[in-house]
Order: sequence, then C-alpha cells, then structure tokens
Amino acid sequence: MTITEAEIRERTRTLVAEVGADAGQVEFRSAQWRAGLAAVQYPEGKGGLDASPKLQTAIEDELRSAGVKHHSMLINPIGIGMGMPTVLTYGTNEHHETHLKRIFTGEDIWCQMFSEPTHGSDVAGLASRAVRDGDEWIVNGQKVWTSLAHHSAYGMLLVRTDPEVPKHKGLSYFILDMKSRGVDIRPLYQITGDAEFNEIFFDDVRIPHSNLLGDVGDGWRVATTTLMNERVALGGSTAPKGSGTIASLTALWEQKVGSLSSGAREAMRDRVSQLWIESEIVRLTTMRSRANAASGNPGPEGSVGKLASAELNQKIWNAVMDLLGSDGMLHEPGYPLSRNRGTSGYSLSKAFLRSQANTIEGGTSDIMRNILGERVLGLPGDVRVDKEVAWKDIPS
Ligand SMILES: Cc1cc2nc3c(=O)[nH]c(=O)nc-3n(C[C@H](O)[C@H](O)[C@H](O)COP(=O)(O)OP(=O)(O)OC[C@H]3O[C@@H](n4cnc5c(N)ncnc54)[C@H](O)[C@@H]3O)c2cc1C
Repeated sequence: MTITEAEIRERTRTLVAEVGADAGQVEFRSAQWRAGLAAVQYPEGKGGLDASPKLQTAIEDELRSAGVKHHSMLINPIGIGMGMPTVLTYGTNEHHETHLKRIFTGEDIWCQMFSEPTHGSDVAGLASRAVRDGDEWIVNGQKVWTSLAHHSAYGMLLVRTDPEVPKHKGLSYFILDMKSRGVDIRPLYQITGDAEFNEIFFDDVRIPHSNLLGDVGDGWRVATTTLMNERVALGGSTAPKGSGTIASLTALWEQKVGSLSSGAREAMRDRVSQLWIESEIVRLTTMRSRANAASGNPGPEGSVGKLASAELNQKIWNAVMDLLGSDGMLHEPGYPLSRNRGTSGYSLSKAFLRSQANTIEGGTSDIMRNILGERVLGLPGDVRVDKEVAWKDIPS
C-alpha cells in the first residue's frame, strides 16, 4: 500500500481524537498498535502498515503536538529500540504474537544480556555457555552492565553453544524469561548514585528450545541486528529543532549571560552557538539514519549518529558545568552513591555525570570509528588474530 505523509498525519489525529491524549499508557499504545502506527514500516497486523519508515517521524510529531503523554520509546528503550526489530526479523509468528505488542505498550520491559566481565567490545568472544538437554538448554555463566534487568520480564541472551568452532560461529541467541529459576540479578551502582544496570549470574537456568531466535550457531547474525538497532536508538533524538540536551544549555545560557564578564560572554556565546549548530546536524543525520531502518535492519550508518551524539552530549554537559561554575559541584541530597536514591528532580550535575557513559554504552566510540572506517569508508580492517581459531583454543 502506498500511503502518504498527509494520510499518516490524518490517521494519527483520528487515533488521538478517538482514544484521547490523556489515555493511560497501555490503553493508548495498544490502540496505536492496532492502528498500525506503532512502527509504520512493520507488516499490517503487527503494529505497522508496510509503509516507508520515513513516515514514523510524522507520527511522533503529531503525537507530541497533541500532548500525548506516553509517546516516548523511553518507556521501554531496550525493548522498543532493539527487542522489537530483533524479534520481528528472527522470531516465529508465535514470538511475534507473544511479544511484539507487549514490548511496544511497555507491559513487558526487556533487557539485553550481551556484555560479560571479560567481553564487552569483543562480545563475540563471550564465555557464558548453553548446553542442550532435550527440548531445553541449560545456561551457566555471568553477564554484566545489563541495563534495566531488575525491571525486565524478558531479556535478549547471547551465549556460547559450540566452543569447538571460531568465536563468531558458536553463538546462539535466546529470549530469556527473567523470572526463570537460577537467574540472579544484582544491581551495580554508578557514579550518578543510581543503579541503572546489573550483573546477572546464571546457575543451571533452563530455557525452552522454542525461545531460540534464528538457528543454533546463528547468534552472531541475530546479535548484529540488535546492535545495529541499538546504535540507531542511541544515536540522538529526532525531537524538534533546539530541544533535547541543547535546550538545557541554551536555557542556562539565558539565565547566566547577564552575570558573565564581557570576555567570558563572548567566548561562551561562540561555544553555545557552535554546539547548537552541531546539535542540529546530529538531529538531521539521525532522522536520515532512522529513515533507513526498514523493517528492523539498519546498516552501519547507525554508528554515525551514535558516535556523533555521544561525543556531542558530553561537550554540551561540559559547557553546562562551565556555565554553572562552582554550583556545578552541588549534588542532590543522598549523594554520593546513596541507596536512598532521591532522584526525583532533574539535576544538571547528575546529567553531566550520566553523560560520561555515552561514549561507552552501546559500543565505545573507538568501536564506532572502527565500524565506520571499515564498513562505510572501506579502510583496512582491525587486527583480528583469533578470527579463524576455535574459541576453546583462544588464550584467555
Ligand atoms: C550505562 C551503560 C549501560 C550498558 N548497558 C548494557 C546492556 O544493557 N547490555 C549489555 O550487554 N551491555 C551493556 N553495557 C556494556 C557496554 O556495551 C560495554 O561497556 C562496552 O561495549 C565496552 O565494553 P567493556 O566495558 O568491556 O570495555 P572494553 O571492551 O574492555 O574496552 C576498554 C577500552 O578499550 C577500547 N577498545 C577495545 N577494543 C578495541 C578495538 N578493537 N579497537 C580500539 N579500541 C578498542 C575501548 O574503546 C575502551 O576504551 C552498558 C554500558 C554502560 C556504560
């Protein structure tokens, strides 16, 4: 079906009129799913309309201007950004029926269990093992830095099923019910004082074979889909011009400008203007790379937005700290690393601390540069001496 932007906008306005901008999260998002306006490039009956992914921005735009409360993917960032496209691409019809809509509505929060204590950037070398036992697999091992695991109903789990073959060929990818017996989730506290992520221990965890995504040994290919979508999801906001992180800086600039000396004012004006321009470039680039994410398989161009937005975010929060001066050293009651989280208010100094993770999470900036160098610019590849060696023979 060829559907125009004007029709999509009209359908979105009709949805809002019928359900109401103030409807609850699950009610509104269920109706959005049924209307095919959840992920417009997905098949009809599965949250989409088989339409161009470029039209999704028009839907977001309409929902935002209508004041719909629950339109952000942040209600379930890993599930919506990475789980949905992976399940859509590699899942069976039964997986689609069970999971897609509940991820979108936020009824089931999802997490991603790839990183391990010794394998982050080199995730293909991971060591957690799954061994087949009839219609089930038995998993033992450990994951780390698993965001939102403590809230999650399901997780995307990458494990080694064959140590006899090279590292990329012996992996398999499962959907894990996080309430399974033998899953031990322990929070890890960050520099912000929050525990967004966790370490997870698996002790003889049983997973039904039917929870496999893709084939046995095909886990790397499935994981690549998840990772490419992660980079698009993390790659900056498509919110309106001048909003998002840069809005915090421009608001603070307006508040502080009168108190700056003329020299500091000139220098800071240049810096704020430059960061505003860079924000707009990243926003437009992100819109282009999201528009390419047809049916869940974006290419390496997602790494452009991820790299640029991570580094820009840090530059913006550094400028915010410089403008705050000594006030930037003040933190919320309960800091540091208090288990009494006290995080209800929006804190600029906390956002600055949180931004330090931007160039690590979802793949470091070094890894993004490697991907872009090799896969977009065609430069010579990184050194990979273990690529053809059986995983069990790689020295640890
Ligand atoms: C806030 C946050 C949330 C996260 N959430 C999740 C999550 O939900 N699920 C999950 O699975 N993981 C998650 N992670 C983990 C994240 O993916 C890893 O931290 C990241 O991939 C880096 O791995 P590492 O920490 O093991 O660092 P390492 O891989 O040990 O890297 C150390 C340093 O070496 C550099 N380096 C490594 N290899 C190369 C290379 N080939 N070329 C050049 N430089 C290289 C890196 O850039 C880095 O500077 C999260 C991390 C953070 C900070």
